[in-house]
Amino acid sequence: MSIPGLKICAFGVRDDELEALKTLGRELELDLVICQKEPAMETVSYAEGCVGVTISGLSMIDAELLDAYKNMGVRYLTTRTKGVNHIDVEYARKIGLRVAYASYPPSSVAEFTIMMILMSLRNYKQSIWRGQVNDFALSGLLGTELGELTVGVVGTGQIGFQVIKYLSGFGCRIIAYDPYEKEEVKNYAEYVDMDTLYRESHVITLHIPLLPETRHMIRTESIGVMKTGVVLVNCARGELADTEALIQGIESGKIGALALDTIEGESGIIHGDHRIDILPNRSLFYLRQFRNVIMTPHMAFFTATAVNSMVRCGLAGICAMAEGRELREEIK
Ligand code: NAD
Repeated sequence: MSIPGLKICAFGVRDDELEALKTLGRELELDLVICQKEPAMETVSYAEGCVGVTISGLSMIDAELLDAYKNMGVRYLTTRTKGVNHIDVEYARKIGLRVAYASYPPSSVAEFTIMMILMSLRNYKQSIWRGQVNDFALSGLLGTELGELTVGVVGTGQIGFQVIKYLSGFGCRIIAYDPYEKEEVKNYAEYVDMDTLYRESHVITLHIPLLPETRHMIRTESIGVMKTGVVLVNCARGELADTEALIQGIESGKIGALALDTIEGESGIIHGDHRIDILPNRSLFYLRQFRNVIMTPHMAFFTATAVNSMVRCGLAGICAMAEGRELREEIK
């Protein structure tokens, strides 16, 4: 169901989203404006006459932009991502611009998380790097089996729960923390408090939103209570961990391995080819050079299934709000 001719502007459209956007735009009979540039004051005019705007995860939406969209008639904003930390949602609420996120299947990120855990436990980075120079020795590559370990899952929402279900197939002990415990999770994992999770986990994986209270939850103090040699996995948001504390943790040997799909200050760096650029954020690059640190460019979500679903959520979410239908993903 949709309102024929509803005018929507899609900003920050990547090449891999184009086909799905155009197909869905036709299917929903939308008047779709596609802008491959990110939202900014210089690109505001693309949204002229639009009732809705959909944005990417790289789009930074501040009060000035929200005012500009609102003044030109935009009523609805959707992000084609799960996280909304790139939008000033408080200000949007204040001016009455309705915002919704994308709720796509958690399997893309959950599968990637399992891969990151296994790569860390089996020293995959070293084995692949050394293989490039014909070093096929086994020294330094001795791995650990996941089934023998305790894995701590922080956040048992959609992704965290899916990770827990996948982990259950490996036979490891699974402990979890979430302020809102779910009965179905208890079939696979034992809920514990955060301190116990830090103390007892050999592997800790984060699946929580970036909020003022979760920013830098992984810092010197929390790393201090973890097991020596702990494996930390962050496929959620970079700012959940203090990079300087991660560096110290690796240097001291407290952290045994790090697998980061997201890292503090990644905005402006990820999802771009910077081979000939001089890049800021020296901590990111210093951290990356350690033999036991894997970094990927915020790509855990990036599967064909997830991209199609994110595009659908972006457009269908605006249609639902415009038609006055209840939308579970709307930020109230
Ligand atoms: P969700 O909303 O379904 O689940 C989040 C869970 O975190 C909720 O159960 C909530 O109660 C819990 N939570 C909130 N504060 C907490 C805290 N202080 N401690 C422990 N738990 C807490 O979200 P989701 O779909 O599972 O996604 C989780 C996060 O993954 C997103 O917020 C996003 O940042 C990240 N993400 C990353 C990628 C990627 O490509 N790397 C893709 C999608 C989502």
